[in-house]
Amino acid sequence: MEHWDVVVVGGGPAGAAAALAARRADPAARVLVLDRAGFPRDKVCGDGIAAEAFDVLAGLGVEPATVTDGFPAVPRLRLTSPRGTTVERATERPSHVIPRAVLDARLIGVAQDAGAVLRRQQVRQVSVHPDRVEVDGSVTAGVLIGADGAESVVRRALGVRRNAPTELAVALRGYAPELPGQAGVQVIVTTEQRWPAYAWSFPLGDGRANVGYGELVSGGASRAGLEDGLRRLLPGVAPDALRAHRLPLSTGRPRQPDGRVLLAGDATALINPLTGEGIFYAVLSGALAGVAAGAGAGAGAAYREALGRRLGRHLRHSTTASWLSRRPALMDAVLRSAGARQQVFDDVVRLGLADGRLTLRALAGAARHLPRT
Ligand SMILES: Cc1cc2nc3c(=O)[nH]c(=O)nc-3n(C[C@H](O)[C@H](O)[C@H](O)COP(=O)(O)OP(=O)(O)OC[C@H]3O[C@@H](n4cnc5c(N)ncnc54)[C@H](O)[C@@H]3O)c2cc1C
Repeated sequence: MEHWDVVVVGGGPAGAAAALAARRADPAARVLVLDRAGFPRDKVCGDGIAAEAFDVLAGLGVEPATVTDGFPAVPRLRLTSPRGTTVERATERPSHVIPRAVLDARLIGVAQDAGAVLRRQQVRQVSVHPDRVEVDGSVTAGVLIGADGAESVVRRALGVRRNAPTELAVALRGYAPELPGQAGVQVIVTTEQRWPAYAWSFPLGDGRANVGYGELVSGGASRAGLEDGLRRLLPGVAPDALRAHRLPLSTGRPRQPDGRVLLAGDATALINPLTGEGIFYAVLSGALAGVAAGAGAGAGAAYREALGRRLGRHLRHSTTASWLSRRPALMDAVLRSAGARQQVFDDVVRLGLADGRLTLRALAGAARHLPRT
């Protein structure tokens, strides 16, 4: 048995942030990242990254330009409500669109530079003991961080249930030329048909865009249905390399158990139920898990507390908003209000992409724009 202080399963945004944070918190800590893929590797995603994700990385000593280099900021967002109201505005802070093959290789590279060791290994078995965690019968860890994504083996080993179909989305994405007039604009189109469902086109800055479509698993989503949704919402767009993947939404997030095994990112279902955004939550939870790992047997409790303090209120608000958003008329009213007032637009974006709240301003604005009966 080979012993490491911290073993991270998965080297995506959550795993890279966890490894980096663990090394920064304790430069003497021996940190091993196991990933079944070799980097660079693709990950099915919309590639849209909220500015707040770079704030978390900056807190870990990562200069944003080292991650964004070559990919221009995307300063505007165009939203279409399920009933067809469209609003386009500058966002408070610009996003970036970076293909995951590039983003994830850069992030794991930073973690390696900080002293974490990356090894290619598909983890199949995790067993938890009072004083250690064993991985595949060959590696032991003082603390194990499961950052192994939507189909997490570590989550399963802990006996934590999967998200229910109402708390799980599925989406497919590919790459296509930008839409006419789309330069610098992230486009999100929702639809009443099969609601909640939406398509996106996110420009990479080189004339191409990441395009995709997703909906809830509970609606009986199929590959043909997803392709049909994409054609319906983005007519004339013919992406190549279409691939699908599941999104465990934060409406179904499990309680972090006590002990030596921590779950971060998609493995703990931290995807925003309003937008499908998960990278910000992955790097944030990974960073908190990496720090909490120093607490050994107390890591689970320390991490649960830190995550609750940082994201608890936002998660409660986004869950409530997701429940309210099931009424397309209300979504329409929110967007009308966002069209009338920049501050409401900013509130909506912060709730959907980062750690924002359901503000009174947004609720009052929506109430004013609801159709009179
Ligand atoms: C179609 C689609 C569009 C999306 N669009 C966006 C978007 O535009 N913006 C956004 O912020 N979020 C988006 N998301 C969500 C985002 O992709 C995830 O939230 C994010 O990737 C989570 O990061 P993670 O590190 O937790 O997991 P992942 O990025 O999935 O990384 C998990 C890592 O674990 C490894 N792994 C898995 N199992 C094992 C194993 N058994 N052993 C070893 N290694 C293993 C994998 O190889 C992978 O490298 C989208 C998701 C989908 C499906």
